[in-house]
Amino acid sequence: MFRVEPHANPVTAQERSARLAQPGFGRVFTDHMAVIRYNTQDGWHDATIQPRGPLMLDPAAAVLHYAQEIFEGLKAYRLVDGTTALFRPDANARRFRWSAERLAMAQLPEALFIESIERLVEIDRDWMPEIEGGSLYLRPFMFASETFLGVKPSSEYLYIVIASAAGAYFKGDGRAGITLWLSEHFTRAAPGGTGAAKCGGNYAASLQAQDEAIRNGCDQVVFLDAVERRWVEELGGMNIFFVMDDGTLVTPPLSGTILPGITRDSLITLARAGGMIVREEPYSLDQWRADSASGRLVEAFACGTAAVVTPIGKVRSRDGEFVIGNGMAGQMTERLRAELVAVQRGSAPDPNGWVHRLF
Ligand SMILES: *Cc1c(COP(=O)(O)O)cnc(C)c1O
Repeated sequence: MFRVEPHANPVTAQERSARLAQPGFGRVFTDHMAVIRYNTQDGWHDATIQPRGPLMLDPAAAVLHYAQEIFEGLKAYRLVDGTTALFRPDANARRFRWSAERLAMAQLPEALFIESIERLVEIDRDWMPEIEGGSLYLRPFMFASETFLGVKPSSEYLYIVIASAAGAYFKGDGRAGITLWLSEHFTRAAPGGTGAAKCGGNYAASLQAQDEAIRNGCDQVVFLDAVERRWVEELGGMNIFFVMDDGTLVTPPLSGTILPGITRDSLITLARAGGMIVREEPYSLDQWRADSASGRLVEAFACGTAAVVTPIGKVRSRDGEFVIGNGMAGQMTERLRAELVAVQRGSAPDPNGWVHRLF
């Protein structure tokens, strides 16, 4: 299905290893990209693996005006036996279709989504960083490319996958807890809105709050629900879990205003398989503060593909701050992270068939 146009002047091996020594996140890109076009007449067509480069876009392209755009994020990484693998790409493919549906966009067949990623990882396999925790971060995305200023779902879309070499997401050893800024003015998503879709618009709406977080010396912002401003929802780009002193895990339910994270789902599955109780139920800010003070809440962590599992140490707001546990990664956080990473890296059994081996 894919036509392959290899890059005529790929980055030299020497330059590539220099860039891969400390890739950071989201700055070091590979030589190629996968592209598939869609229009209502021809459906999905023109699938290619081609040199990565700038796009030609008409200034009236619908995405530039009405933000019809969605994306995904997943990693290709090395298993302990040296095989290159993806983690649950079928779940990303399914979520990409749901996001497309919510944004009134064409739905890419799941097999084509997975094949586009497989082909890109294969051709750019030399870009896998060999450093500890290194991976190839894959960013599939799709946007409205019709040249038209009328407000309606576009009749043309461009689907693209780019790949970026990645080291660890947060600096440090991953044991120090991050500090969250509690957003009181801004909300991220409202009932009936696009909170459950992975779309750029949700991020655009979160940036002012994220900026406020940084100005207040915090790492990330945590959002409350838009109706009562009372229930904890999620961070700008990660889901959240609470660990109680009896070992129970609590995480906000998929009410339509939070993103159904694949890491979230994987952790719930692993925790339940390990005999833990996981409650998907609303948890309020007041309860969070009270439980942190009383010691009923012992740990909290954020999770997502990029950062995996990240301990939350403190929550800061205009009224002051509170500390969770001792402000460091707790036992349960460490245990769940280790269990998930072990499955991902192929060093623990994979009863759910999550690891998708490539080559
Ligand atoms: C992508 C994303 C997550 C995490 O989802 P994963 O599938 O675990 O990577 C959480 N929240 C938001 C807003 C996201 O965009």
